[in-house]
Amino acid sequence: MALKRGLGQSLKFLKKNKKYGWVSAMEDIDSRKAPRGVRDILPAESWKWAYVLNVAAGVTAHFGYSEIHLPVFEHTELFTRGVGDTTDIVEKEMYTFTDRGGRSLTLRPEATAGMVRAALEHGLCGDRGQGRASKLWCWGPMFRYERPQKGRYRQFFQIDVECLGLPGPAADVEVIALSAEMFRRLGLKNLEVVVNSVGCPQCRPQYRKVLFDYFMSRKGGLCETCLGRLERNPLRALDCKKPECSSIADDAPSVYEHLCEECAAHFEEVKAGLTRLSFPHRLDKRLVRGLDYYTKTAYEVLSGDLGAQNAVCGGGRYDNLSESIGGPHLPGVGFAAGMDRIVMVMEQQGASFREKPQSQVYVVAQDDAGSCPEARGAAQVLTHRLRTKGIAAEQDGGDSVHAARSFKAQMKSAAGAAWACIIGPEELAKNLVALKNLRTGEQIHVPFEDVESHLKT
Ligand code: ATP
Ligand code: MG
Repeated sequence: MALKRGLGQSLKFLKKNKKYGWVSAMEDIDSRKAPRGVRDILPAESWKWAYVLNVAAGVTAHFGYSEIHLPVFEHTELFTRGVGDTTDIVEKEMYTFTDRGGRSLTLRPEATAGMVRAALEHGLCGDRGQGRASKLWCWGPMFRYERPQKGRYRQFFQIDVECLGLPGPAADVEVIALSAEMFRRLGLKNLEVVVNSVGCPQCRPQYRKVLFDYFMSRKGGLCETCLGRLERNPLRALDCKKPECSSIADDAPSVYEHLCEECAAHFEEVKAGLTRLSFPHRLDKRLVRGLDYYTKTAYEVLSGDLGAQNAVCGGGRYDNLSESIGGPHLPGVGFAAGMDRIVMVMEQQGASFREKPQSQVYVVAQDDAGSCPEARGAAQVLTHRLRTKGIAAEQDGGDSVHAARSFKAQMKSAAGAAWACIIGPEELAKNLVALKNLRTGEQIHVPFEDVESHLKT
């Protein structure tokens, strides 16, 4: 009933507004096509996405991060307060709608604010948001109303990693190292880590004032957007991509001369940590990132192979986000990596989307010309048994009836594995399996029942 009334009202509204151009544009909509800026990830590509996510799951597990699933829509206020109303995201990119109960909701444009909200709501960092660290990651679609182009969509996917509750620079280094390790495992080349500090509420007001005065003295050369938000947030003019603003921003006063003692020391430790772990990084005093919530560290990972949309990952510290959404003080640092762009760069660079051959064991049945079909049956049993014990095992696709391949052909297929388990008439007679180490060529005989215990040692 409610649906019927809703539909009726919408049609009446469309009719009433027919004189406006956009209504006739709506009538032209081809419902067999997805909306502009969103796309289907077809099976030809989706297996690559599965691979990237698998690598992400492995790296985050090794660094001690747990997966969390967050809703794709939240209260609009979470983003206006959390992300900040002078950001591009809040100013012009959000998909905001009113639900049937009259609430203003927004399709999440990013995951950090939702992550902090969830940590506060469920006390993941202790009752008052303090005392306990919480290391979380998630992945999923984000939504931003942007001009669609290569590497920029209105629905895109992010891998988001957040370390909550730790104020020290070691956490910043860990998060940056995690992203770099993820990209290393994915085989991405030609990447650059760019780092900066954006100060904190102690030192930023002073720097903002210096910046404001500087940009005001050059205001004739700035674009309209920068001019419009100069008073509210002069830092944003630093990372404006428009050429006219960019050359003015190049000569802007440096943040490094205005960091308070604590921020300067924090930044020094982050740089020292990255050097200790041998991560090459470049400093960029203009990197402020598009989000208001950053404090201290801001960083990006750029790809030399992405053209204009060159950031594969962006992140930093946001010690005041929790307070800005009404929570207690809760320090945090994290990053979001764009999956669409990761897959795109990997494709361009010819990176492999396959895991290294997982098959540790190849089970070979010595049954040339159908002389010992029982060996095939025993191979089938052994292969299945190994798989159920968590050992990756493969066997010849043939059986005693179909396309049984020769011993030699099977040994050739076994070449990628670490071990070959060979079962022939002699082994069958003594209930043994020949276990051949394919790296060293050594071979021993072990009882049929004991294969896995030998493999595990
Ligand atoms: P950009 O400068 O490219 O707009 P951003 O600073 O807005 O990036 P973040 O909010 O830091 O992006 O998001 C982290 C990552 O998500 C980016 O580095 C990028 O890889 C990816 N990303 C952001 N917006 C889009 C989009 N519209 N389409 C595809 N990927 C995106
Ligand atoms: Mg953006």
